[in-house]
Amino acid sequence: MFHVKHPDFIDVIVIGAGHAGCEAAWAAANRGATVRLITQNLDTIAKMSCNPAIGGIGKGHLVHEVDALGGLMGVAADQSALQYRVLNRRKGPAVRATRTQCDRRLYHIYMRSMLDGHPRIHLHQGSVSELMFDGDRVVGVVDELGVKHECSSVVLTTGTFLGGVIHVGDRSMPAGRAGDAPVMGLTDELYRRELKVGRLKTGTPPRLDKKTIAWDQLPMQPGETDVQPFSLMHDHVKQEQIPCAITRTTERTHEIILENLSRSPMYSGKIEGVGPRYCPSIEDKVVRFADKSSHQIFLEPEGGDHNEVYPNGISTSLPIDVQWAFVRSIPGLEKVNLIRPGYAVEYDYISPQELTSSLETKKIKALFHAGQINGTTGYEEAAAQGLIAGINAASAALELPHWVPDRSQAYMGVMIDDLVTKGVTEPYRMFTSRAEFRLQLREDNADLRLGNHAIELGLYSELRRQRFEARRDRVGEVFASAGAMQIGTGAEWRSRLAELRLPVPTQSMLFSSYCHREDVNVDQAVGLLDGAGALNVRDLESIKALLHYSGYIDKQHQDVDRFKKMEAQIIPETIDYSRIAGISIECSQRLQSARPATLGQASRLSGVTPAALTGLMMHLRTLS
Ligand code: FAD
Repeated sequence: MFHVKHPDFIDVIVIGAGHAGCEAAWAAANRGATVRLITQNLDTIAKMSCNPAIGGIGKGHLVHEVDALGGLMGVAADQSALQYRVLNRRKGPAVRATRTQCDRRLYHIYMRSMLDGHPRIHLHQGSVSELMFDGDRVVGVVDELGVKHECSSVVLTTGTFLGGVIHVGDRSMPAGRAGDAPVMGLTDELYRRELKVGRLKTGTPPRLDKKTIAWDQLPMQPGETDVQPFSLMHDHVKQEQIPCAITRTTERTHEIILENLSRSPMYSGKIEGVGPRYCPSIEDKVVRFADKSSHQIFLEPEGGDHNEVYPNGISTSLPIDVQWAFVRSIPGLEKVNLIRPGYAVEYDYISPQELTSSLETKKIKALFHAGQINGTTGYEEAAAQGLIAGINAASAALELPHWVPDRSQAYMGVMIDDLVTKGVTEPYRMFTSRAEFRLQLREDNADLRLGNHAIELGLYSELRRQRFEARRDRVGEVFASAGAMQIGTGAEWRSRLAELRLPVPTQSMLFSSYCHREDVNVDQAVGLLDGAGALNVRDLESIKALLHYSGYIDKQHQDVDRFKKMEAQIIPETIDYSRIAGISIECSQRLQSARPATLGQASRLSGVTPAALTGLMMHLRTLS
């Protein structure tokens, strides 16, 4: 093929402007690198391939963390939100989660305009077909026009596009997602370099025409207004909230699906890739939960200026005639028109065990992977990985230190550690239950946990830094005053407490203990604190969460200290596990193939026994 060289050398090349790629480019540029973001189609930047919703349980935490590290996702989600909800509202603040339904087109527009506005990010439309190497180091990429782009590091964020094939019934066609060409050849190149490759699948429901839905027959679910936006840069939810409708599958729906199961590519054996267990297709739900005669469906608008509606809960790859029949058996959808068919997509992923925690491949220097290519599913998971890969790709290019949060600092740290340590056997998504230190990893304190790191890494604008520092100091001061405060029983206290309709204790007590009494309304009690008048709603959430968990969090700090000690014990890359006394052959092989970076990582590998861990610990001592 004829080749030309791009006239400009660039620090970092990001391949793919999906959710991982946008954050990678933004973080790398904020870290100080020049960035070329090469993507197949500039008009699909940050396209939400499936449901245009951001956040949810576990995922909302990731969005807050992306925002806390100066990322884009929270800002774009707030700007394009059609409806906000807080999930798990009745549970404790640690597992409460924000979710927005977004306008898909507006989300893309905001994302693109932010990328366009960054002085160090250069957008480039093109499809990367090859990587360029110098020994075991990537030194550039080649696009389909034969342009050679030279750089110091590369972030690969190809989503569902590597070897992508979509399926609707017995029809299959090569595609990265409906309407977009797949990328062939890149996987082979990685495979030749001995990276472990696998196949996964995911699916999406048909899209419905708003004007053919009998809305007046369906219960509506309004948005919530007392919600904090995702981004620290926004104080209030601004837009008017658009309601969703709720309907359910019927026994007839299930009959139609079961009668046609043999025509589903999943059940006929045509699809080999493993799908997301927690996001099953409707045909999967009908088979797996055979005792259920109905499944709930949310009808969610996809935008303010067109008619597409997303039926959340009926992802399918059944043939189009079966889709028509089963969707029309659902109340309110008897006359519905399907604007787009549902389908499944199968694609290649590269085992995340090929990566270090900074998301750099172990076998190819300066090559970073983020997003769906690592076996994850979800926009938020992709964005969070993209941000970390972007920071580290820039660090590699500029010879700055790498940075990765650990499991005690962020959900991002939990996800990355899970991925690189344990790998994946099915698409990985975030849950709050994956985090062992979840009382301190809350949505409300994501910025307080990560903001100082973001400033050190250069990820904040001046305005964001000022907003963060002011909030950090306000919350810190008020909480410190809470720690020392005693609620008294004298006349002055009685009158203050009466004013706030709070009970008078029988004897004076610490404010934090007072807040744990069942008859004390913490929302009111916060008003007793010095400086409380200056707190905004976001600050109050943080103070209340700290009070709610005081005592438990202190206890968790001891666990965190133990965890940090294990993480600090680095295992040398050259270690030979077969020579360590007291380790069984199975354990030694497991350690040899996973090659954990720290004693902590070794302890989280399945199949590594406590005895093997003790042997390893003793061996490390002999080396120090
Ligand atoms: P993507 O968003 O896929 O972006 C990849 C980008 O890279 C694209 O813009 C593409 O054009 C570009 N690109 C790829 N290769 C190249 C190349 N060689 N050169 C230049 N550009 C390139 N997630 C869920 O959480 N729940 C679901 O139910 C769900 N269902 C899904 C259904 C379908 C049909 C699809 C396609 C995805 C679904 N997802 C779902 C997954 C979700 O879309 C992804 O997790 C998320 O988009 C991953 O982000 P990413 O940045 O890794 O990749």
